[in-house]
Amino acid sequence: MPGHGDILPDSRPREVRGAVWRAGQGWWRPIFCANCGRPGGLVPQRACTFAFWLCDPCWETHGAIAATMAVPDEQFWAELAADPSSGA
Ligand SMILES: [Zn+2]
Repeated sequence: MPGHGDILPDSRPREVRGAVWRAGQGWWRPIFCANCGRPGGLVPQRACTFAFWLCDPCWETHGAIAATMAVPDEQFWAELAADPSSGA
């Protein structure tokens, strides 16, 4: 989604820490809630150029900000799994 990177913070820290190597999939890096910093799981480094994620409590408070591009976690993971370039 081009453009969203201009207005929303990236949930991937600038400095990658705790990246996980998965055989056949490459590096996965952690993302964090853009508001409170709660860990939000891992995204594949290779297929991911931008990530914005809010945890459930922050979503209830601030979700309207990101509503234009929001998908539930379940849908995100389903789409990720269906994307051959993700290697998932
Ligand atoms: Zn949060």
